[in-house]
Amino acid sequence: MLQDGARTMTACGVCKGVTEEFVHKGGSRYDKCTNCGFVFMNPMPPAGQLDELYSAGGPQHLPDTYSKSRSRARRAYIRAIALRRYFRGKDALDFGSGGGFIVNALQKFGAKSATGLDIDSVAVAYARRHYAGSQFFLSGYEDFAASGRTFDFIYSSEVLEHIGDIDGVMSFLQTITRPGATLFITTPDIGHPAVPAKVVDWPVLAPPHHVQFFTQDSITKLFINYGFTIERRYNKRSAPTLKFVAKKIR
Ligand SMILES: [Zn+2]
Repeated sequence: MLQDGARTMTACGVCKGVTEEFVHKGGSRYDKCTNCGFVFMNPMPPAGQLDELYSAGGPQHLPDTYSKSRSRARRAYIRAIALRRYFRGKDALDFGSGGGFIVNALQKFGAKSATGLDIDSVAVAYARRHYAGSQFFLSGYEDFAASGRTFDFIYSSEVLEHIGDIDGVMSFLQTITRPGATLFITTPDIGHPAVPAKVVDWPVLAPPHHVQFFTQDSITKLFINYGFTIERRYNKRSAPTLKFVAKKIR
């Protein structure tokens, strides 16, 4: 069913290549670019509907607490230690900061400042309650960009697959980054050999939350298009995840 504001796309949002119908799941249709392998929900749900999915408590947690908060905190420390060289002494932002675990870890391991941004009011309330030393913004990314804040380091894990407006989110990343800034990004890799041959069986292919999927090729093209270069990739044979550091070059 086509809702108000839904966008039907006829070309690849990354490379403008030719797209074809790919798979149907949960009443949603996904198309795939024949050139770069980018997969996207078509039609793309309107932005307002995505906001609604998250603003009153996303799928990740219970109303007043985070499950496994201790192990989340520990994993955030491990990741922050591995990325320390990119944010030490810098102003850092976690885009999609959830319960604030990464923001806390960035602060703890040497960021000059660590800031969180999320549209989930329950998550932001949790983060503010537990990590009072950092700043957390409850805001959509467009409004946040308009505030004029800029950063040297952006952390964004498992966010890009939720935001159908690629131009909007990439322009946001351009706007909020200073020259030479680095970004640490993770998002599912639909081109990975560990993805089931029958892709509909892949639990990560999860409408309505996951509206698009990248491959090594498509994510590289996308970041280059917006003035970034991929500086380092963390590929794993076991996990279908694109995990990389990008650097702003223009
Ligand atoms: Zn493409």
